Amino acid sequence: MYTASCLCGGIQLKINTEIPEVFVCHCGQCQKAQGSAFVAIAPIETKYLEILQGHTLFSEYFATENKKRVFCKACGSPLFSARLDLPEVIRLRVGIINEPLSAHIASHAFIDYKAAWFEILDEAKKFHEGLN
Ligand SMILES: [Zn+2]
Ligand SMILES: [Zn+2]
Repeated sequence: MYTASCLCGGIQLKINTEIPEVFVCHCGQCQKAQGSAFVAIAPIETKYLEILQGHTLFSEYFATENKKRVFCKACGSPLFSARLDLPEVIRLRVGIINEPLSAHIASHAFIDYKAAWFEILDEAKKFHEGLN
């Protein structure tokens, strides 16, 4: 169990499941969306995501047709993404989790697009493409 919130605190979430693994994506879209070298996500079954507060603050952006990127419209924090054809899973941005996360990095995706200034130093699996 974890709690999560956006930068302004308007959105408060509860994650009612364990998060054993974090997946890192280095693609250009994720760099832009996070304003950083990569995104770090955990796939969560949508049924385990509980919205405690902030329903009216959710906003979404489609960089690609089939995937919505959900963020807080007050503070801009990225919250999760979800494929329209896979609504039962969200990809939580693990940076919004409030508690220390005892997860390890499972893999790096789209490593050919990695930021030049960032070096991958862990031994996790590396993929030239996304996982799905
Ligand atoms: Zn916010
Ligand atoms: Zn990506």
